[in-house]
Amino acid sequence: MDNDCPCLSGISYQTCCAPLHLGTIKATSPKQLMCSRYSAFVKNDVEYIFATHSPETRHEISIESIHQWNQKCQWLGLEIRTTNLEKDYGYVEFVAWYKQDNQLTFHHEISRFEQKNIDSVLSARLNSPHQDRAWYFLDASYPENVVKLPQRNDCCICGSQKKFKKCCGQ
Ligand SMILES: [Zn+2]
Ligand SMILES: [Zn+2]
Repeated sequence: MDNDCPCLSGISYQTCCAPLHLGTIKATSPKQLMCSRYSAFVKNDVEYIFATHSPETRHEISIESIHQWNQKCQWLGLEIRTTNLEKDYGYVEFVAWYKQDNQLTFHHEISRFEQKNIDSVLSARLNSPHQDRAWYFLDASYPENVVKLPQRNDCCICGSQKKFKKCCGQ
């Protein structure tokens, strides 16, 4: 369904990632932030990606460069593999599936997240600025374990419940 959240949580966008994108609520865990950042890529809300990127490492990215890269990506699905949370730090290992030039590919990453005082960039997106701390994406590493491409008869990576060959594999 069109209304399903792009993060494949199984619930609607309106009750899943939209409140985060609108600044009504903020993420309460690295996993929730991860999912909302993936959904933001799907919705091309590049400013959200930028705002939830840690001020410590934000200078490494720009809204323009993310936007340009994202234009070439056709996002298909998100698969969360492992998550870990320790006080103000956490990580999420995920596989994000997408097509580039009509070719199926994936992004396999361990994203690290930190919880810290809200800075002005993120604060500008939140409806209740007195919330003083928030989760941010900090940096990424790339695990070496293999990601298997879906076979023709596998369940599709987009969560459609159809076979890959009858869905995104066409
Ligand atoms: Zn979602
Ligand atoms: Zn599909």
